[in-house]
Amino acid sequence: MTRQAVFLSSPVIWKHGHGSNHPLKPERLLRTHKLLQEYGAFEASNVVLKEPVPATEDELVLFHSPEYVDAVKGLSHGEAGYSAGKYGFGPGDNPVFEGMYENACITVGSTLEAAKLLADNQCEVAFSLAGGLHHGGPDFVSGFCVFNDAAVAIQWLVNHGFRVAYVDIDVHHGDGVQDAFYESDKVLTISFHQDGRTLFPGTGYVDETGRGNGEGYSINVPLPAFTHDAAYLWAFEEIVPASLDQFQADIVVTQLGADTHYKDPLAQLMLSTSAHEALYKLLDQHSPRWLALGGGGYAVEVVPRSWALAFERMSGQSLPDELPPNYREQFGGEWLRDREDAQIDQATRDWVMSQVIDIVEQVKKIRAAYV
Ligand SMILES: [Zn+2]
Repeated sequence: MTRQAVFLSSPVIWKHGHGSNHPLKPERLLRTHKLLQEYGAFEASNVVLKEPVPATEDELVLFHSPEYVDAVKGLSHGEAGYSAGKYGFGPGDNPVFEGMYENACITVGSTLEAAKLLADNQCEVAFSLAGGLHHGGPDFVSGFCVFNDAAVAIQWLVNHGFRVAYVDIDVHHGDGVQDAFYESDKVLTISFHQDGRTLFPGTGYVDETGRGNGEGYSINVPLPAFTHDAAYLWAFEEIVPASLDQFQADIVVTQLGADTHYKDPLAQLMLSTSAHEALYKLLDQHSPRWLALGGGGYAVEVVPRSWALAFERMSGQSLPDELPPNYREQFGGEWLRDREDAQIDQATRDWVMSQVIDIVEQVKKIRAAYV
């Protein structure tokens, strides 16, 4: 059945960036938009393309402290009297950059608008392309994330009486969103990520299960480096469908960071686009209403293909495997789907699988206390 779909993206989002040497390149978003546009994906009768408006300060403070919002604005506009370091800004991962406040506001506005459209039944699936900035804290920047659009939008949904499940498949732990709802039984958070002992932000262990009313509403599946398609998909199928079906969310929010891909330069999981497609299919099947967010992904050649596959699934389209001629001419590449998987020797594959079986058993054992 074809679902009513909205795709939110804006030229404002890809105008500003953290700087030319920073891995979070706006180019990723521009290319994803172009790829879908060249495929004609926005012309389908069930698809609406929307340009989001910036979130207001009243909306930002659904999750962020007023002091932090004020500081981000002041720092971004080069005003005196704000200490960048106090909020985690500085050279390296989290520089202050020109247009930072406007960029961050439009990202939150995009995800919030998607949430409102879903809440209002104006669509059944929505993709907020710039969203998924899952590390942002209430009063600090972290891991390239100034404002946490997911936390703001989920808080809005909860305030309006919705039960929300959040599934995060970015290669990094979804710490900011997990922390935001750690004591809530209205939000189930599930994060699959590379083991925090080997990757930023160093959290997301199986014993992080929630606190107080939120006990049992936080699920973490930390995976070893070199986890490949088969091991990842097996773990995902063992944990996610049953957890989602049991929780019975009104709206499922997913962070679709594509940095699990084997070509990603910042992490060591080894997924191909065929695993991504399988994940999108499962998320589609278990989401009554689906709010998809972008997120990480630092191989500029990979991210647009993976997210085009996500939107293909969401909007019930069938995109030809050959990339559109205009896209190929401008950005290169040939095929939408990977033509080969990661090259991993059999001994490593077997070792990964045995590790993953062990982790899934631990998670299931913990889950058994709550079901
Ligand atoms: Zn990431």
